[in-house]
Amino acid sequence: MQKFSGKTVYRGIAMGPAVVLKKADEQVKRTGIVDAEAEIARVHKSLEQSKEQLQQLYEKAAAEVGEAHAAVFEAHQMMLEDEDFLEAIYSMIRSEMVNGEYAAATIGEKFAQIFADMEDDYMRARAADVRDITNRLIRNLSGSQQTDLHAAQPSVIVAEDLSPSETVQMNKEKILAFVTVHGSTNSHTAILARMMNIPALVGVPLDLEKIKDGMQVIADGITGEVIVEPTAAQALEAEKKIADEREKARLLLELKGKENVTHDGKHIQVFANIGGVGDVRYVLENDAGGIGLFRSEFLYLGRNDLPTEEEQFQAYRHVLQAMGDKKVIIRTLDIGADKKADYLHLGQEENPALGYRAIRICLTQTDVFKTQLRALLRASMYGNLSVMYPMIISVDEVRKILDIVYEVKKELDAEGVSYKMPEQGIMIETPAAVMICDELAELVDFFSIGTNDLTQYTLAIDRQNEKLDNFYDPHHPAVLKMIRMIAEGAHRCGKWVGICGELGADLELTETFIKMGIDELSVSPSMVLPLRKRIREL
Ligand code: PEP
Ligand code: MG
Repeated sequence: MQKFSGKTVYRGIAMGPAVVLKKADEQVKRTGIVDAEAEIARVHKSLEQSKEQLQQLYEKAAAEVGEAHAAVFEAHQMMLEDEDFLEAIYSMIRSEMVNGEYAAATIGEKFAQIFADMEDDYMRARAADVRDITNRLIRNLSGSQQTDLHAAQPSVIVAEDLSPSETVQMNKEKILAFVTVHGSTNSHTAILARMMNIPALVGVPLDLEKIKDGMQVIADGITGEVIVEPTAAQALEAEKKIADEREKARLLLELKGKENVTHDGKHIQVFANIGGVGDVRYVLENDAGGIGLFRSEFLYLGRNDLPTEEEQFQAYRHVLQAMGDKKVIIRTLDIGADKKADYLHLGQEENPALGYRAIRICLTQTDVFKTQLRALLRASMYGNLSVMYPMIISVDEVRKILDIVYEVKKELDAEGVSYKMPEQGIMIETPAAVMICDELAELVDFFSIGTNDLTQYTLAIDRQNEKLDNFYDPHHPAVLKMIRMIAEGAHRCGKWVGICGELGADLELTETFIKMGIDELSVSPSMVLPLRKRIREL
């Protein structure tokens, strides 16, 4: 038995077998071999295994999300049959007498680089495919079982760190909890864990070399502890806590259908945040009044090219239809900083949180922005859509956005495509936007306060930096004063204002927010009912 302390990202408790995720490049060490043909046979076997896995993934994806989305797995199978690629690996094994993992990693990177240097955007994006298949091959060669979480039983995922794009690709049904050695409680990976309703701890000082797949792990987000190979008594206690938590959740369900109203009759809207189409289920299960933040950028992560207008339209339409006449606020692409997509070629930056992200990308790569706006406007016919724009710092930006929206409307009009003009709002998440919120309020229909970034930029603390978690204080008087200023600014202009950052779910502040006149709080689906309970107690 070993016990470790970490930082809780999502309060909840789970127990189950570990699946240790190791990054492929951590496993690639150059070692000498004596029998090249035997090594090539080993590569060959892993190739077959990789192709079989891809076939299974293809079938699963085709059944769940349709053949168009599954096609990538078919393409990967074909790439694994490419003779130039395989011959280059075999020839390196023979000439340098090195292990298959190393040869595959070296050749894979060489091929990926050839694609990455091409002129054509489509061909450039294939670099990520080459890296993907190479990593799969290496994982199979080194016997790591991480590839197919799809096939594993529900498990506690243990990793050094997880990126948002890795997290977004995981099959939620198979994850009992996340435990990572690094990571900040304010990162998007943490936010995803909260949205997925999954107990999660970061900053847990585990030695991943010592944890083997299948070892029993208790991830206790209530105490902030992780126990590896618990004693029988500890396992029994964990089972009891899990049952208690289930009972608490069951009691909360009794609040479904009830109003979000205080004893003295103040109403507030309680909405939910989502990261993908699949999350709508949790919104409905928890009886949220609407969707206050759909982080659309997650549609752009974990893939090798931009989602097309049609793909986006289908995703937005699905969410809108599932929500009926309830409001759905879709935020336009907020990629960059920790949310990376290789195909957008965002490059390395000294200060990514202060860098090329969100609306800055959309106002530069207007074709990417317009594609999303077309998909959004087309989908507006299927429900109660609002659109909001992230990371605003100036009136000029909002004017530019509105001009682009106008152009897109004209295009659709000319094509005879129908749409219902959605409400348009902006996120207030920079101190600059706070200071000019009166002018901004004139231009838009609503504000949604992004307290995660607002705290980061107000306190000059990188929300990704795990060393600063103790300094990142969203209760700082400067942050609370800004929230009050935003609420007053919006109301002076007759506009409504919500909070969609994580602070909206902070039950210690619910009363303060209601007193400030905040009209809507949008929280992770699992916090909707606890928040309703809190409001009804006030
Ligand atoms: C925020 O900054 O508070 C927010 C809601 O957006 P994100 O966390 O996605 O940056
Ligand atoms: Mg933000």
